[in-house]
Amino acid sequence: MAPEMTDIHIRTTGVAGRITLARPQALNALTYEMCLAIEAALDQWRADPGVAHIVIDAEGDRAFCAGGDIAEMYQTGTAGDFTYGRRFWADEYRLNAKIFNYPKPVVSFLQGFTMGGGVGIGCHGSHRIVGQSSKIAMPECGIGLIPDVGGSLMLALAPGRLGEYLGTTGARMAAADAIYAGFADHHIDEATWPDLIRALEGGAACDTLAEAATEPPTGALSSRQAQIDQHFGGEQLGDITNSLGHDEGSFAEDTLALMARNSPLSMACTVELIHRLRGPSLSIAKALGLEYRFTYRAMEHGDFLEGIRAAIIDKDRSPKWQYPDLSVPAASVSKMLMPLGENALVLEETPVNALKIGFVGLGNMGAPMAANLARAGYVVAGYDTVVKEVTGVQMANTAAAAAEGADVVLTMLPNGDILRTVAAEVLPAMASGALLLDCSTVDVDSARAVAAVAADNGQIFVDAPVSGGIGGAAAGTLTFMAGGSEAAFAKAQPLFEIMGQKAVHCGAAGAGQAAKICNNMILGATMIATCEAFALADKLGLDRARMFDVVSTSSGYSWSMNAYCPAPGVGPQSPADNGYQPGFAAELMLKDLRLSQQAAEAVGADTPMGAQAMELYRQFVEDEDGLGLDFSAMLPRFVKQGRPE
Ligand code: NAD
Repeated sequence: MAPEMTDIHIRTTGVAGRITLARPQALNALTYEMCLAIEAALDQWRADPGVAHIVIDAEGDRAFCAGGDIAEMYQTGTAGDFTYGRRFWADEYRLNAKIFNYPKPVVSFLQGFTMGGGVGIGCHGSHRIVGQSSKIAMPECGIGLIPDVGGSLMLALAPGRLGEYLGTTGARMAAADAIYAGFADHHIDEATWPDLIRALEGGAACDTLAEAATEPPTGALSSRQAQIDQHFGGEQLGDITNSLGHDEGSFAEDTLALMARNSPLSMACTVELIHRLRGPSLSIAKALGLEYRFTYRAMEHGDFLEGIRAAIIDKDRSPKWQYPDLSVPAASVSKMLMPLGENALVLEETPVNALKIGFVGLGNMGAPMAANLARAGYVVAGYDTVVKEVTGVQMANTAAAAAEGADVVLTMLPNGDILRTVAAEVLPAMASGALLLDCSTVDVDSARAVAAVAADNGQIFVDAPVSGGIGGAAAGTLTFMAGGSEAAFAKAQPLFEIMGQKAVHCGAAGAGQAAKICNNMILGATMIATCEAFALADKLGLDRARMFDVVSTSSGYSWSMNAYCPAPGVGPQSPADNGYQPGFAAELMLKDLRLSQQAAEAVGADTPMGAQAMELYRQFVEDEDGLGLDFSAMLPRFVKQGRPE
């Protein structure tokens, strides 16, 4: 059982496992020892037939729990020892997941402040009770962290773009807002809480809590939802602050004032984190795992130590953040959220998976993807006709040898013909029921043909082309668009989570390739449209930076403009700033546009913009000097070429 402690009271009373946080003088801030004690109690009560439910409350009327106790982390972190903090976070997150997944009801009574670490204890249970004094918030960006302890899961699930708003501002939620945002379940008059707790201890069912609930005073968030969605819908922090900056209303002003106190790097990572989590593959383990990538690096590379110094050590409240002008490079965000390899968060059992993986096609994309799988603990056997060495991968002499006995074989190959040839070699070597997971971009027909051969062999197939380029492959942030059966998709899911940030199950075999070519047909056309508009703006004497400022927050907005601006020195870093060295080569765009037109022809779809985009990229790559340049080099092409006679 838990050690003797004065900061927390752990006992069983009647049928309730009872936990009372008892540090009211410190707003019940959670220490490492308190975390370990709660976990030990939960472990013991899990199988105890005498414990029907868990009831967590806290002493004092100012706070349920105002956060984690970070003083010790500061002492050790400034001395260059990051292991204490990392261990604290890892152990705390394991506890958060345990509460979330607990097989018995967990009831929490959340008076006053419930923030940060307090949310991790109080807001993952099955019955979360708020009252008239409740104030719930995720204010971590204010100390150079990100919303953690599993709070990012609630933020990702909150209506519309509320999660981005609450995460980046740290705005406080009273009862109605907390219920609206998904951090609480019932509003109950605090004067009745002691009686309710006694009833629960005496055996009352947790359902009675719903009967005691009353309507809380109207909150602020639901009426602001439209404004929040309008301003917080952008891809990156810069889009959000840009949008708020162009609005003269009081909501935008108040919101920017809240954000001005927070670490820009933390806010940018918070936006990215929520975007990666939102979607069907969201789980508490995924949320905590991603949060841990940030917190693991927070002391060494983030603003965390500076944030604590300013908030609780020197109390000068003027932290010197990195990127004080709020322009956080996308690369800095990716660096904080890259996979941790062998240091990744372990929640229950060890993640080193017994699955055996074969990987065929280890070029620009395949090599870093295979290396990420090996770093995560998988045994990976690889084969490539040219590449003979990849970190962590055991190289085989043939594709069939790499696939021998594998549970999953991945392919990352140049085109559909090569995929068909390789599939004919590897499928006979694979076990029955094994998965062939093709991540190349190929034609829909090849994907479906290989799926059919796999099915004849008693194996399963998923086509899962990617978006995100070689940067995303190395950072483990690819997006996968997958086609195949539910079962096949489920089998691929753990691998997607290591190699990428998101996987969308688009439908049956071929649907992933269909999604990929539709996406890239839009991308090709919008990039051309963006480039020709810049070239026109030049001729009209319009400054490119002003043009970016307007379009990136107006209806001409697109990924090509906002995230990958083709004009050098304008917007975020992009290949334009690097002499148009390819992130995504023009000839690869041409290949994808050809696939889209081939597919359109096969099914009789009218795609005039796609056809025109293909023809322009064909001219650029085959007749002009586009080969080997990035696909955004269409801008200097338009400028150089001028209007044809
Ligand atoms: P790449 O040319 O660098 O890699 C392909 C690899 O396949 C090469 O190493 C080649 O030696 C190997 N290969 C060819 N035939 C083989 C065979 N029969 N057996 C074994 N290995 C063989 O290309 P890449 O950039 O890694 O792209 C791979 C796929 O991913 C393509 O379908 C591409 O369209 C797609 N893709 C690329 C990007 C990108 O930014 N590079 C982005 C998204 C999707």
